[in-house]
Amino acid sequence: MKVAETLEELWTERSHLKIPVGLVPTMGYLHEGHLSLVRKAREECASVVVSVYVNPTQFGPQEDLTKYPRDLERDLDLLRNEKVDLVWTPNDAIMYPKSYQTWVTVEEVTKPLEGSIRQGHFRGVATVVSKLFNAVQPQKAYFGQKDAQQAAVIRQMRRDLNFPIAIVVCPTMREPDGLAMSSRNVYLNPEERKAAVVLSRGLFKAKSAFESGEHEADRLRRMVLDTLATEPLVKVQYVSCADPDGLEELEGKLERGLISLAVTIGKTRLIDNIVVG
Ligand code: AMP
Repeated sequence: MKVAETLEELWTERSHLKIPVGLVPTMGYLHEGHLSLVRKAREECASVVVSVYVNPTQFGPQEDLTKYPRDLERDLDLLRNEKVDLVWTPNDAIMYPKSYQTWVTVEEVTKPLEGSIRQGHFRGVATVVSKLFNAVQPQKAYFGQKDAQQAAVIRQMRRDLNFPIAIVVCPTMREPDGLAMSSRNVYLNPEERKAAVVLSRGLFKAKSAFESGEHEADRLRRMVLDTLATEPLVKVQYVSCADPDGLEELEGKLERGLISLAVTIGKTRLIDNIVVG
């Protein structure tokens, strides 16, 4: 496995890779969720490139950038195990040199949900993913359903900017009790970790109600809210039932929907979602 830091190193190593090249963008501190993307890329592509970069421009001023967990040596060991061909670990000076002034803004699909709470987040995401796409030039790129709005934003950006890259969205990996795996789960103390199980419990309850014939958007949202309310440590930011592509909030009966939520537990912010229909 090759590890590149500078753009020149990346380009040299990239020029030796067999196509199709699959790219898995990550912010490191890898878990089974990330590795499921890497395995899918390994299955589908002749070469696999993983980027490990904590992108500062997608964090708000009040967010956890400096505290974001990092362990590059461990990440590299895990990726070596998965037979990754190339890891790119750029730094801030490479990604955003002093003269940096170009940004990618995706409009409507970035406005609700995460976009309504994390101002500027998706401008940072769309910009860094564009830079990764241009630098690595993969044929396929792998993202997790865990970040459903991010996947929708990247799909929209791919169409709008004509990136010749297939976007593959992989299912959310969960802990045995249902909690969606996330690098941020390490922030939870034991009591908070226990409380966090209500997130997936609420979503699964809504999914099984949908499958039993409850298709009313409002009642599905209410079901999730009621489950979250059983846990006093959980503070709700939003519970949504929206169109899975455009993310417009749904009213009345639905055929397909993305049920998503964001909460804080103590100082930790968690998101999760499930698709119904
Ligand atoms: P991150 O390092 O948090 O930026 O995540 C990198 C990629 O891994 C993103 O496409 C995420 O959606 C994906 N990912 C994160 N957690 C999970 C999970 N539990 N299951 C599947 N994919 C995930």
